[in-house]
Amino acid sequence: MNILILGSGGRESAFAWKLAQSPKCSKLFIAPGNAGTGQYGTNVNIAVNDFESIKQCVLTNSIDLVLVGPEEPLVRGIHDFFLADEQLKNVPVIGPQAEGAQLEGSKDFSKQFMERHNIPAATSKTFTRDTLQEGFDYLPTIGLPIVLKADGLAAGKGVLICLTVQEAQQELIEMLTEAKFGDASSKVVVEQFLQGIELSVFVLTDGNNYKILPSAKDYKRIGEGDTGLNTGGMGSVSPVPFADAEFIKKVEDRVIIPTIEGLKQEGIPYKGFIFIGLMNCGGDPYMIEYNCRMGDPETESVLPRIESDFVELLLGVAEGNLNEKELIISNKVAATVVCVAGGYPGEYLKNKAISGMENVRGSHVFQAGTTQQGEDILATGGRVLAITSLQDNMFDALQQATADASRIYYDGCYFRKDIGFDLI
Ligand code: AMP
Repeated sequence: MNILILGSGGRESAFAWKLAQSPKCSKLFIAPGNAGTGQYGTNVNIAVNDFESIKQCVLTNSIDLVLVGPEEPLVRGIHDFFLADEQLKNVPVIGPQAEGAQLEGSKDFSKQFMERHNIPAATSKTFTRDTLQEGFDYLPTIGLPIVLKADGLAAGKGVLICLTVQEAQQELIEMLTEAKFGDASSKVVVEQFLQGIELSVFVLTDGNNYKILPSAKDYKRIGEGDTGLNTGGMGSVSPVPFADAEFIKKVEDRVIIPTIEGLKQEGIPYKGFIFIGLMNCGGDPYMIEYNCRMGDPETESVLPRIESDFVELLLGVAEGNLNEKELIISNKVAATVVCVAGGYPGEYLKNKAISGMENVRGSHVFQAGTTQQGEDILATGGRVLAITSLQDNMFDALQQATADASRIYYDGCYFRKDIGFDLI
């Protein structure tokens, strides 16, 4: 099979690494990929939202399956684009059609979906410019802090946690009437704050059957001890020790089954990943969000723990017989430490040459924001590398990934040295 992966981050590097191991994969293409994905396949310089060029690439390279990494092409309807095209309609796309991708593309849609299917979540209401006053009236009723969420995609920045009602009022005004997050904040979900520990559970579904992939916990803040600004993710660990079989069973019964059944009942086709962002509130799972794709950097910790052939699983999704496929999960622990560019998540240093990757001993380096320039690999993105170590226990995995991150150098390189140590 010839497979095309869309995306360029650490997540797509991990997908490429995993798919390239399958005897079923003859040729692998990554669009646009990064300096590291060339180790596993052929990079093609096409942007993920350039559907016409993707079509040409699929036809030219006789692609048999497309795996979509990021959410944006899904929300913009890449899967629908394939289904509507005579030449592409038989090429399976892993990732939902635009309607299903609304689970991520619209917080209001996803909150209403949770409500319709009795999926436990924080209480919330949605407001627009026209209902601003009602929003003001609602703010003092839900306790502090108050969570405000831009309805649409806002590059991971659309969630604000306000400590006072006054702050929430000001932010609500800016979001609704001053387009703080552009069009994405023309609707705002005002939500109760959930107290607990966050984790993510990943589901792969063919729209009817599902497999629960390993759980993971990610670390969003830039600073050690979970301080400072939010980032795309500074590290991850899988499995999550407190997500034991009993907890996962609750997630399955209260969230996963109602989600899959809800999609079916509403006639929403869904072939792909469902990322379930949860808060563990005293042993009970509450939904924070859905994403319509895998997480980054969680993928880098989740995939190394999957021992089965991942192409087989994707074929199960495409063909609707996922129930017949085997999912074997390793008992080992994976830890991922992300090296970012100096200054990130603000203005950050670019085009710094990376050295020392060859010194990494007990980890795999998944490249993210990198580009090849002659002999050099340059750090170009905010998140530059994801260093993953798979070991028999959590301490060893964390220590190895952290030690290996420190063997890499580029001007401004920064990584957190405390990833996962709160779990030990
Ligand atoms: P989201 O984009 O919905 O994942 O939100 C970003 C982050 O905000 C989450 O990863 C949580 O850390 C936090 N968050 C979102 N909603 C809530 C909530 N209702 N209670 C507490 N924290 C939240």
